[in-house]
Amino acid sequence: MVLHQLCTLEENKAPLELADLPDPVPGETEILVKVSACGVCHTELDEIEGRTPPPRLPVVPGHQVIGRVEETSSKASPFKIGDRVGIAWIYSACGKCKFCLEGNENLCSSFKATGRDANGGYAQYMTVSEDFAYLIPDVFSDLEAAPLLCAGAIGYRSLRLTGLKDGQNLGLAGFGASAHLVLKMARHQYPNSKVFVFARSVKERAFAKELGAVWAGDAEEESPEKLEAIIDTTPVWKPVVEALKNLEPGGRLVINAIRKEEIDKEYLLKLDYPTHLWLEKEIKSVANVSRRDVSEFLELAAEIPIKPDVQEFTLEEANKALVELKTRRIRGAKVLKID
Ligand SMILES: [Zn+2]
Ligand SMILES: [Zn+2]
Repeated sequence: MVLHQLCTLEENKAPLELADLPDPVPGETEILVKVSACGVCHTELDEIEGRTPPPRLPVVPGHQVIGRVEETSSKASPFKIGDRVGIAWIYSACGKCKFCLEGNENLCSSFKATGRDANGGYAQYMTVSEDFAYLIPDVFSDLEAAPLLCAGAIGYRSLRLTGLKDGQNLGLAGFGASAHLVLKMARHQYPNSKVFVFARSVKERAFAKELGAVWAGDAEEESPEKLEAIIDTTPVWKPVVEALKNLEPGGRLVINAIRKEEIDKEYLLKLDYPTHLWLEKEIKSVANVSRRDVSEFLELAAEIPIKPDVQEFTLEEANKALVELKTRRIRGAKVLKID
């Protein structure tokens, strides 16, 4: 499924077109992967609608890819034919800059994203450098593993960046695919911490409590206790401004969104310095993922285990999945099953 032209989903409910492309040929130190599942992510909407546009079109989107190795470049490859691998948002980085050398290749100026800067997994085949593919633990089915590669790995990085310690209160603003995985991780890694959830829909709040949140309320509500850290996974501004009043002095709010939508940007004018930022409150964003985040998270997810609720679509139904993602927030992660 190929993106030829940027557009909004309101203008065009079928931005991707089914196309027959030649099978990609792996370059030196690359593997050819036969794709079996690919998760559908909010970032695809950001790409299609131009908030994080692909540098070149056409492009095949998709960055939560599960498949089997069909070809390796050399005998020295870390993978064998038939290995089940995952490919995440990080497609490549330079490997030489200070960020790459310290393990923060997500910040590399040559960072390339799967399905935006290179063809991704809304396809039967893709190629990737053998340094940017991960073995998938056996406990997961292909469909279960796919959403872990983005929502899960980035959620893991967000949680890491909060600097939370066991026993401290954590808030989650927004309760979509990534946040529900973060809640499961937080309960496991910080068993004495209480989790508070801010979500618009009553259904999402009920789901959060089912998963172990001690409290769930609307975005503008005040939490019953102050919070040492908050992770925002919404695409808009109101939840950020509203969440800041619930932070402890010295607390940190981590924004986990590749781009924010412009629709409620004027809400930022409600930012009141003494209420929202004074007393050393911090705001930090999360950019992409590093390989360490993906591998550590896969290990953690297998140990807990975290198995996302999945809603299955065929490859041809990719547009339908994207429209549903844009217009309705249903429980669980959308995944394309690819034959
Ligand atoms: Zn994603
Ligand atoms: Zn680099």
